[in-house]
Amino acid sequence: MEKAKKDKFKTLLLQAKVKIINGGILCSNEDLTVSSDDLSDEADLATSVINQQVTFNMRQRELEKLKAIEEALYRMEQGSYGQCEDCDEAISEKRLENQPWTTLCITHAEEQERKKQKIIKTIDENRANLL
Ligand SMILES: [Zn+2]
Repeated sequence: MEKAKKDKFKTLLLQAKVKIINGGILCSNEDLTVSSDDLSDEADLATSVINQQVTFNMRQRELEKLKAIEEALYRMEQGSYGQCEDCDEAISEKRLENQPWTTLCITHAEEQERKKQKIIKTIDENRANLL
């Protein structure tokens, strides 16, 4: 990858990183504790627990993204940035513009997505059979 392109994606990665850190989702502790006021009412408590779960999931996703960004920056240092982990082909520039932290070309990203959907479908089917 040319240096100019690499610099462009590095900027995108750093911008995404700053956005996550400044977003505050990683350090807002108050959302993750259930206040004692909520304990008196079962419905409120249920809502609190759901909110807590949502915040937790969001935080989890942001942490995963942050990790992916760090790994992409590392690959940049190593010189393997922009190559598919599966087939070593160059990942399209357009794809990298949307997701500069991606590790797969579109073909293999779609393949992975299909596998994931298949697993989800299997779980759903198993659950349906149990009911
Ligand atoms: Zn590939």
